[in-house]
Amino acid sequence: MSHLVLARRYRPQRFEDLIGQDVVVRTLRNALASGETAHAYVFAGLRGVGKTTAARILARALNCQQGPTPDPCGECSACVDIAEGRALDVLEIDAASNRGIDDVRELRETARAMPVRDRFRVFILDEAHQLSRDAWGALLKIIEEPPPHVVFVLASTDKQKFPATILSRCQQLDFRPVPAETLRAHLAEVARAEGFALPDGAALMLAQSAEGSVRDALSLLDRVRAFSPTGVDETAVAEVLGLPRFEVVLKTWDALLGGDVAAVLQLLREVEAEGTDPVAVYEALTTFAHTALLLACAPDCPIPYAADQRPALVARAGAAGQLRLVRLLGQLVEHRRLIAEADQSRLAVAVALGRLALWPRVRLIEELLAGSGQAVAAGVPVSDGQVAAPRLASEAGGTLGDLRRRLAAALDDAGAHLLAAGVVSASAARVEGGVLYLVYPSAAAANGQAAQEGLAELAGAARAAGIAQEVRVELSPAVATPSSPTPAELLLKVQSHEGVQRVLEIFGGKLERVEEKV
Ligand SMILES: [Zn+2]
Repeated sequence: MSHLVLARRYRPQRFEDLIGQDVVVRTLRNALASGETAHAYVFAGLRGVGKTTAARILARALNCQQGPTPDPCGECSACVDIAEGRALDVLEIDAASNRGIDDVRELRETARAMPVRDRFRVFILDEAHQLSRDAWGALLKIIEEPPPHVVFVLASTDKQKFPATILSRCQQLDFRPVPAETLRAHLAEVARAEGFALPDGAALMLAQSAEGSVRDALSLLDRVRAFSPTGVDETAVAEVLGLPRFEVVLKTWDALLGGDVAAVLQLLREVEAEGTDPVAVYEALTTFAHTALLLACAPDCPIPYAADQRPALVARAGAAGQLRLVRLLGQLVEHRRLIAEADQSRLAVAVALGRLALWPRVRLIEELLAGSGQAVAAGVPVSDGQVAAPRLASEAGGTLGDLRRRLAAALDDAGAHLLAAGVVSASAARVEGGVLYLVYPSAAAANGQAAQEGLAELAGAARAAGIAQEVRVELSPAVATPSSPTPAELLLKVQSHEGVQRVLEIFGGKLERVEEKV
């Protein structure tokens, strides 16, 4: 089975079948309807978005025996011959292999001659930006004074390379990359027509990989079908494309935002063992961050994910907030360059994600160092003049990040996405006597409140994750009640605190003075 089977079978034959090019289609249809078509067009855009297909439809529209018309009949000899690529008056020329002056001279001869049978001679120059300078010169002469029976379509993925003199004499139509959602819907339609099942999530993964190209999307679908004739689902797609599954991306995201470097690296190892390129995970996280940001700004906006994946995204967008998402996305994009340039991209991904995972912790530590009332957010609740026992440690059940991640995963499984997202903002967690204590800093009071209201669900998830039988939620006091241990006592206690030790480790500093904030 050729990998172009579907792309060929579903090649649009009419303007209205062109996917995702509404502006182009409307412009061409209007021109045809009013008889005001241009003699030279530039069709610019990415590969596989329909430039050549649109050029062929335009040729049919011009030469159809019922035409010129926006709706070629598709049945007359002109329509049929053009569709099959054997019309004498429609010439498709690959500029990449015909870039010299001689070919263009020949072209000029052909252009001057009257059409053999049809109304117009239509020249479709593919990859026109590859023409040589002399060839451009010769072409310009024809376009400056085109014979009335000639139409040129210069198709190109890189019109920036066209001489300005050419561009100014052509009508330029820009073909857009087709949005993932539009591609997904198209793939679903093709699957329906072909009579095989294609889940939304799988269609979307294919659509995203195709990066705006209809042809690539259909070729990818061909590939997955060849690989897995019994059914195309998310797993088959992930395997063929080497893409991470949504669930893996979700887990990595939670670990990343939970500041759990160990978990992030472990997840990377796991996907690599499954044969997934860590760079693909990184790209998936970038898409995730971008989408979360869009959702944080406009919760109802359309997103390139399946409908059943939306709640998990919405919840995470809300939990992270615009500010953090902007920063995270910025960092993801920034590190992308480093990954692209690195000799060992998998190491670069590990370093980049490690840095990103550490960022929230560094931020909290910075707040701690700044001595703001946010100190509690770093897991150092101050009460009764005492520094509470460190709660970040693995007293039971693993690190804070690990506990939060497992709990969030169990909540996600139970469909409690909002609670799952809120768990990430717990500043401390411990397990004692089968009870999981979650501490929410005052900065995350809303999430704490939500957790308190969702105790039953939290407990269910804690049991499902094998963390604890029960859950209690503690809200850290916004203001500590003062009483006074001696400065020396306080210094000693603060110094022995794990979080503080980590600060000192990261910043290489020395604790000189401890003050209580009231
Ligand atoms: Zn026709």
